[in-house]
Amino acid sequence: MKETEKEIIVIGGGLAGLVSSILLSRKGKRVLLIEKKAYPFHRVCGEYISNEVLDFLKREQLYPDFLEIPTISNFEFSDTKGKSVSIPLDLGGIGISRYMLDDWLYQKAKAAGVEVKTKIQVFDAVFEERTEKFALTLSDHSIVEAGFVIGAFGKRSKLDKTLDRPFIQKVSPYIGVKYHIYADFPRDTVALHNFSGGYCGLNAIEDGKVNLCYLGNRDQLRMHGSIEEMERQILWKNPILKRVFQESEFLLEKPEVINEINFEPKMPVEQHILMAGDAAGLITPLCGNGMAMAIHSGKMAADAILLGKSRVEVESIYSKSWNAAFRRRLWVGRHLQRLFGARGVSVFAGKLIRNSPFFAQQIIKNTHGKPF
Ligand SMILES: Cc1cc2nc3c(=O)[nH]c(=O)nc-3n(C[C@H](O)[C@H](O)[C@H](O)COP(=O)(O)OP(=O)(O)OC[C@H]3O[C@@H](n4cnc5c(N)ncnc54)[C@H](O)[C@@H]3O)c2cc1C
Repeated sequence: MKETEKEIIVIGGGLAGLVSSILLSRKGKRVLLIEKKAYPFHRVCGEYISNEVLDFLKREQLYPDFLEIPTISNFEFSDTKGKSVSIPLDLGGIGISRYMLDDWLYQKAKAAGVEVKTKIQVFDAVFEERTEKFALTLSDHSIVEAGFVIGAFGKRSKLDKTLDRPFIQKVSPYIGVKYHIYADFPRDTVALHNFSGGYCGLNAIEDGKVNLCYLGNRDQLRMHGSIEEMERQILWKNPILKRVFQESEFLLEKPEVINEINFEPKMPVEQHILMAGDAAGLITPLCGNGMAMAIHSGKMAADAILLGKSRVEVESIYSKSWNAAFRRRLWVGRHLQRLFGARGVSVFAGKLIRNSPFFAQQIIKNTHGKPF
């Protein structure tokens, strides 16, 4: 095999890409992982991970137990007026920053023998039917070839445009903003506080810190001119959020911000690329399940490549397992998303949780998976 030819190339080194490359490399596959940024780095993410991944992470020695990681077993919800209700979580989760988690998995990937190229972007990935090989064009002008490609390049990448994926045509009004703060906030709780046009999550992460991450609206940002002013005028209308913003110590120099967050359906296999994590479908953040899905789908993509005896079989194994595990969850998440951010609806949802915690727990169950 030529130096420029790999058995497997994984595009994107978030959770899906790191997990799939580690598992494949540990089974003796020659894997190249290409990530456009340099570790460690912050990402917009609520950083609450469902416990459904715990068994897997521990079994594969991927759990970062050198950190003090908060265990989260309680859910707090407030409507746009700040009226709140709490219920216990059945499965619960943990809180850990992506800055720490992704860097830890990156170290694990290198230790497993994965060849990792950082600060390099994949510009194009073309499958040639005749040779049954992919040719990838990279930002350093090199071309690399591979037998299999896992697309783990997140919710939106320039590569989606190059590949002409249908979802990229749809514009989205959502923006995401994240801070790390020191706050007076219970370490066993994940909170979802509504405001007009969006919602804000809060949960503890390592080192006594708290993650504050919200999904807002681009038009509100335009109207108020800056993130800070939008927060004062919109988020602070919820008195709980006003108190958090006024009384906490903000730790990042500036917030992490992303736009064009799109929840449109995608396909798990496109142009013979096994799409994993958000590249296959982004679940709405209010479900707090995207990281678990990224980790699980990374494992599924690796399993499919290891089990399938031909390309057709690999693609079929992956599509089947991905659809069985995630299609319904994504559908429920999309419909829930439409209910949030509207004032009347958040008040109704609060009443529903207060009067029928069983119903709320059913919704949580339907947007989460089982340990694997
Ligand atoms: C506001 C918000 C809050 C959220 N909160 C939570 C939460 O609390 N809990 C939860 O479980 N989930 C949450 N999520 C979802 C979660 O963040 C994602 O589901 C998860 O990060 C997906 O991981 P991934 O590996 O698929 O993608 P990512 O983590 O996005 O990684 C993709 C990687 O690909 C790289 N890349 C992109 N294009 C290229 C290219 N062309 N070449 C090379 N590299 C490339 C990127 O730099 C990136 O590092 C939230 C999402 C949002 C938007």
